[in-house]
Amino acid sequence: MKLRKAFPGVPLCSLWLRISLALPLAAVLASTAVHADNAPLPHIDSKRAFQYTREVAAFGERYIVDHLKGDQIEDDAFTADTVEGKFPVRNIIAKFPGTKDGIIVIMGHYDTNYWLRGSGYVGANDGGSSTAILLEFANQLHGAGSGGGAGKKRDGYSVWLVWTDGEEAVKTWTATDSLYGTRHLAEKWERDGTLKKIKALMVMDMIGDADLNIDRDTNGTPWLLDLIYAAAERQGYQSHFYARQGPIEDDHLPFVKRGVPSADVIDLDYGYNNVFHHTPQDTMDKLSPRSLEIVGDTIMETIHMLDQR
Ligand SMILES: [Zn+2]
Repeated sequence: MKLRKAFPGVPLCSLWLRISLALPLAAVLASTAVHADNAPLPHIDSKRAFQYTREVAAFGERYIVDHLKGDQIEDDAFTADTVEGKFPVRNIIAKFPGTKDGIIVIMGHYDTNYWLRGSGYVGANDGGSSTAILLEFANQLHGAGSGGGAGKKRDGYSVWLVWTDGEEAVKTWTATDSLYGTRHLAEKWERDGTLKKIKALMVMDMIGDADLNIDRDTNGTPWLLDLIYAAAERQGYQSHFYARQGPIEDDHLPFVKRGVPSADVIDLDYGYNNVFHHTPQDTMDKLSPRSLEIVGDTIMETIHMLDQR
C-alpha cells in the first residue's frame, strides 16, 4: 500500500506530516453517541497471533490453508498479467455463516514484496501481521455464536475472511501495477451480486508495529472509521487511533470505488519516518503481541457493533 500519488514531487514523509495535522473530530463526536451494551468485550489470544506472524513469514499460503481445515474455504485463483510477466494469484476466502442477512468482510494481504525477494526480506509486519491477525480471527469465529462449533451459525452477519494475494506492486506502484488480487475479486463480486450484500469491509495491514498508530485513511468510509474508533474507545485503545490522517491506497480501494463501505486499518509509520517499510529491516523484533491485541480486540468489537446495527 502507499500514499496516493496525487502530490507529485513531494517527498512522501513530509507530505504525510503536512496533511495529518487536523484532529479526527468527527470520530471523537461520533464515539460519544455510542453506548456500551452488556456483551463482554472481546479478547483475542495475542501470544498465539504473534506466533502466527512468525510462522506465516516463513511458510506463506500453505500455512494459511492448513490452519483453516474444517472451515468453509473458497479460492479465487487466476493468472495476472503484469509488467514483469504472468503471475499466479490466489485469494483465499474463509466463510463463517451468520443468522443475519449480509456479510462483513475482513481482508489482509499475505503476499510479500516481490522486488525485495532474495534480499533476505521477511515482511514480518507488511504481509506477516495481516495474515496472522486473520488466522486469529478465524479462531475467534470458530467459537462465535451460542456455543460455537462446526456448522453452527454465528449470531449476526456472516463474516468472510479474505487472505488477499498480489497486493504489492511487481515493479513500481501504479493503478495497474498493484492490488491484483482485490481488483479481480471486486470485479467478480460485482458480477455475482456479492458486493450488494457487504455491510462493511475492513482491511488489516501493517498492524504489528510495537509503536502502534493506526492512521485515519481519508479514502475510507467515514461512518465505518468512526465505528472502529468507538470500538477502540470501549476498550481504552483510542490513543492508538487516528492521530494522523491522509489518503492511503490499499486493498480496500477496488471496493471503495464500487460503493462498498470500507476501511483500511493500517499504521503507515513503521519506524521513524516509516524507515522499515519495504526494507529487509521489516523483522519480528520491531513487532509486539500487544499491537495485534489492540487491533484484534478492536476489530472483533467492531464486528459485534455492526451485528447490532
Ligand atoms: Zn507493502
